[in-house]
Amino acid sequence: MNYIPNILFAAALVLGIGYFVKNVKKLVRNIKLGQDVDVSDHKDQRWQNMIRIALGQGKMVRRPVAGILHIIVYLGFIIINIEVLEIILDGLTGQHRLFSFMGGFYGFLIGSFEVLALLVFVSVVIFWIRRNVIKLQRFWKPEMTSWPKNDGNFILYFEMVLMTLFLVMNATDMHLQEMQSGNVISQFITPLFSGMSEGTLHLVERSAWWLHILGILVFLNYLYYSKHLHILLAFPNTYFGKIKPKGEFNNLEAVTNEVKMMMDPDADPFAMPEEGVEEEVPAKFGASDVQDLSWVQLLNAYTCTECGRCTSECPANLTGKQLSPRKIMMDTRDRLEEVGKNMDANNGEFKDDGKQLLGDYISHEEIWACTTCNACVEACPVSIDPLSIILEMRRYLVMEQSAAPMELNNMMSNIENNGAPWPYNQMDRLNWVDEK
Ligand code: SF4
Ligand code: SF4
Repeated sequence: MNYIPNILFAAALVLGIGYFVKNVKKLVRNIKLGQDVDVSDHKDQRWQNMIRIALGQGKMVRRPVAGILHIIVYLGFIIINIEVLEIILDGLTGQHRLFSFMGGFYGFLIGSFEVLALLVFVSVVIFWIRRNVIKLQRFWKPEMTSWPKNDGNFILYFEMVLMTLFLVMNATDMHLQEMQSGNVISQFITPLFSGMSEGTLHLVERSAWWLHILGILVFLNYLYYSKHLHILLAFPNTYFGKIKPKGEFNNLEAVTNEVKMMMDPDADPFAMPEEGVEEEVPAKFGASDVQDLSWVQLLNAYTCTECGRCTSECPANLTGKQLSPRKIMMDTRDRLEEVGKNMDANNGEFKDDGKQLLGDYISHEEIWACTTCNACVEACPVSIDPLSIILEMRRYLVMEQSAAPMELNNMMSNIENNGAPWPYNQMDRLNWVDEK
């Protein structure tokens, strides 16, 4: 018996899955560079969110056309890949259509896969047309040039090719065609190969089979480099997504305690902290680089699908300001990748590269253009919170650099001195009552 194909198959499998696992480890390490945050609360609500938003695609259908097409591709891709189990077992054991002993049920399964493959193909073509022919505005924003634009198209081509290979594989598989069960779509493709000899037909079938499984392994590894990583990360991301009301600002405990002490007339400003009680003062207020963000925010960055729903709802972006919440997430991911590569090159340690997220990737202008309206958070189909990153950077600029815009600095001084944002003495606040 010739074992060479089986050995080659096993080697491809080990190589493909091994490289994927290696990259997943890198991904986890990068995400863990973020600050720790407690997300162990509200477990029931978190599970519900994950089931509704990631598994049930709950927020996708808010835009019905894209939503329904996305559900077809999502379901199709998951269900068709059940077939991969048979392919793997066939490849390892040298059998052919191992599960065909199931008879009618097998035919039903293959038939469903074929229908879904066709639907996925059609949906992907429509997605491609929306991006490249109709040129939907949100796919043509300044941050969607070069790699992000190509990445979006590569994924669509990949899916078209994988679905075509699946159908060609079935159409040229004489065993399946003779069964006349399950070949609901492939039977219409078979005539294209009618003039071929049995040997050529077998060659085409084997080529499609090999390319299909190798394509899946390549696609699996492509995920790490692509926005398509969201097909895996959308699940943890929706689970760990924000449970508190949108836009609720997280208090810095050290600052809250300080303010409480200032407001307490009985407090002794020179009192030493109680023995054994450690005062937790953050090393840095706010965030200027990715390591200052929480690991959930870094997970958000890797999960971003670059769909642009956030940017298309952002009032700052719509009025021509230098701000795109999608770009905030893309920049965070790019910087995190850069930090990760720096660590890889330095035996796991980060060597200062003189760069940071704020300033080198995201400008002050972008940070201050935000109206904190939360539209981006509301629009995101996978529970990403770009606003939280913007706010952390503002916090850094205000508390560490005193670099807020003049209007804000004036307002903050007024609050500090006059107890109100206006430049009037507290005693004069009711003067307007006497104005004629
Ligand atoms: S919160 Fe800021 S970034 Fe988000 S939509 Fe509103 S203005 Fe845009
Ligand atoms: S943050 Fe959410 S809405 Fe914005 S581009 Fe990323 S996935 Fe889409």
